[in-house]
Amino acid sequence: MYDIKSFDATNFINHDEIIETLKWAEANKNNEKLIDDIIQKAKEKKGLTHREALILLDCTIDEKNNEIFALAEKIKKDFYGNRIVLFAPLYLSNYCVNGCVYCPYHYTNKHIPRKKLTQEEIEQEVIALQDMGHKRLAIESGEDPVHNPIEYILESINTIYNTKHKNGSIRRVNVNIAATTVDNYKKLKEAEIGTYILFQETYHKKNYENLHPKGPKSNYKYHTEAMDRALTGGIEDVGLGVLFGLSLYRYELVGLIMHAEHLEANFGVGPHTISVPRIRKADDIDPNSFDNGIDDDTFEKIIAVLRLAVPYTGMIVSTRENVNVRKRSLHVGITQISGGSKTSVGGYAKPEKEDSSQFNVSDLRTLDEVVRWLIQMDYMPSFCTACYRKGRIGSDFMEICKKEQIHNFCAPNAIMTLKEYLIDYASNETKLAGEKLIKQELLNIDNPILKEEVIKNLENIEKGIRDLKF
Ligand code: SF4
Ligand code: SF4
Repeated sequence: MYDIKSFDATNFINHDEIIETLKWAEANKNNEKLIDDIIQKAKEKKGLTHREALILLDCTIDEKNNEIFALAEKIKKDFYGNRIVLFAPLYLSNYCVNGCVYCPYHYTNKHIPRKKLTQEEIEQEVIALQDMGHKRLAIESGEDPVHNPIEYILESINTIYNTKHKNGSIRRVNVNIAATTVDNYKKLKEAEIGTYILFQETYHKKNYENLHPKGPKSNYKYHTEAMDRALTGGIEDVGLGVLFGLSLYRYELVGLIMHAEHLEANFGVGPHTISVPRIRKADDIDPNSFDNGIDDDTFEKIIAVLRLAVPYTGMIVSTRENVNVRKRSLHVGITQISGGSKTSVGGYAKPEKEDSSQFNVSDLRTLDEVVRWLIQMDYMPSFCTACYRKGRIGSDFMEICKKEQIHNFCAPNAIMTLKEYLIDYASNETKLAGEKLIKQELLNIDNPILKEEVIKNLENIEKGIRDLKF
């Protein structure tokens, strides 16, 4: 039975409720009055229910869809301004005991090289990432209690935070590892991680079980209830996501929003981020063998509808997507992107001899090129990690965000971290474009005291001081 507050995954992601929602949305497809009412509600910027979101997703009336896209863009600007946060993934190990049929790291794949970074190798990778300009990482690892126990993950986080090269430092480590116990989540919290990220892959239980035939991940309930355990363990920021293409996207969108509703109802805080990966080609994996792929237009619509449904949640697109798709997705709701990514275990410090990538990357540009591309589109590239380190996390963060005040922090922090990047790492071309943008952005700070402070901080950054933040 559907119960948003239940801690049983089959109740809070209730299959019957999703099927009812799909039927109800079909019966009301293109009901203009209903669509108008939902758009009106979305304008209040307090979010939409899973049922309302699906009505907008299914809408095929051009005029209404234009309204939806324009509103998504407006909401994103109202909450976050024009800043886009940059990060990079760091793969620690591709040893894995699971049998996920869409991932080349599944344990039966015998021809992919298996690798686990040593602490010395992690240090080298982190130095390479710092020399690119990165400040925020998402660490990734397969699930393997022998090769990648929690102790290995904790030691690696410690190495990452303690590696300092020139002016570089990694200031926020987000963690994407397998569902685990409350005790292990407590340990991750003590290790000062940023967001705990776990993709659901698919909310459809039967499909989930078919796609995960072996290993601990095959337990749908344990996996789906992981965020409840993470929040119980004291982690305050959690990141959701589904792998679009594995199951039917309408089902997934409803499940994803139900999950967000469940977290909000029980913990008073929704997901910190939502990622929207689509299945990609990889060793031993042919995306054509999954016949539920979604086209670029549908992908863009999903992002816009999510923006309306969970306006206060950051949204992430990775280098799985090509430049054009990334550009479209930025307009309608994405707030964070990766840049200059490697999806293999190692590869930042020196090129890999054998390919151990989890998936093929579509956007192969360097971080400098991505930064310049953002600037040329009048987005503010940001290397900010301030919230976590200033204690603006969990429900405190959401409070500020819901009051539409977070951009008052994002904008000055984006200016200051971009300045650091321009001085320490940028090419001349990017430097020129970035300095021009900073001047322009300073004009947009209305509060004269804040503006003065930012200008003073920019002068201090010129003098060599780093890590200034609001
Ligand atoms: Fe292992 Fe994750 Fe790949 Fe599944 S998706 S095989 S758990 S690395
Ligand atoms: Fe993110 Fe907070 Fe920095 Fe804004 S101020 S970019 S929300 S860390």
